[in-house]
Amino acid sequence: MPITDTKRYKRSKQRERILEILKKTNTHPTADWIYNHLKKEYPKLSLGNVYRNLNILVNQGLVHELSFGSTFDHYDAHTEEHYHFICQSCGAILDLEMPYIGADDRKVEKMTGAKVHFHRTEFYGICKKCLDKNQ
Ligand SMILES: [Zn+2]
Ligand SMILES: [Zn+2]
Repeated sequence: MPITDTKRYKRSKQRERILEILKKTNTHPTADWIYNHLKKEYPKLSLGNVYRNLNILVNQGLVHELSFGSTFDHYDAHTEEHYHFICQSCGAILDLEMPYIGADDRKVEKMTGAKVHFHRTEFYGICKKCLDKNQ
């Protein structure tokens, strides 16, 4: 598990909504997407607010931040470690239902003498939807 910040934050309705939205989707949205989704509900909300709340959720260990070297970070409220497939055509990020190999963490610990918290693995290619479209 990543190191989590145990500092207590003031409860925030907006933050709870952000977490709720993230839990309901498996599309790994960006901050921008979340902002557009909540704008109607909270007219005073700014993109900065969304980023701040996301950072707090990440520090609390409730949300994972995924950066694949792309321009935008994506967010995932499914915090049990899992692997992803990333479509190089449409940018879709898919959860893979394959077991997390904790034994690899131990292997690396043996190799390095370090303490491993987790590892991430991404598979890159063209998703089925994009493949079907181009046929
Ligand atoms: Zn695709
Ligand atoms: Zn995921």
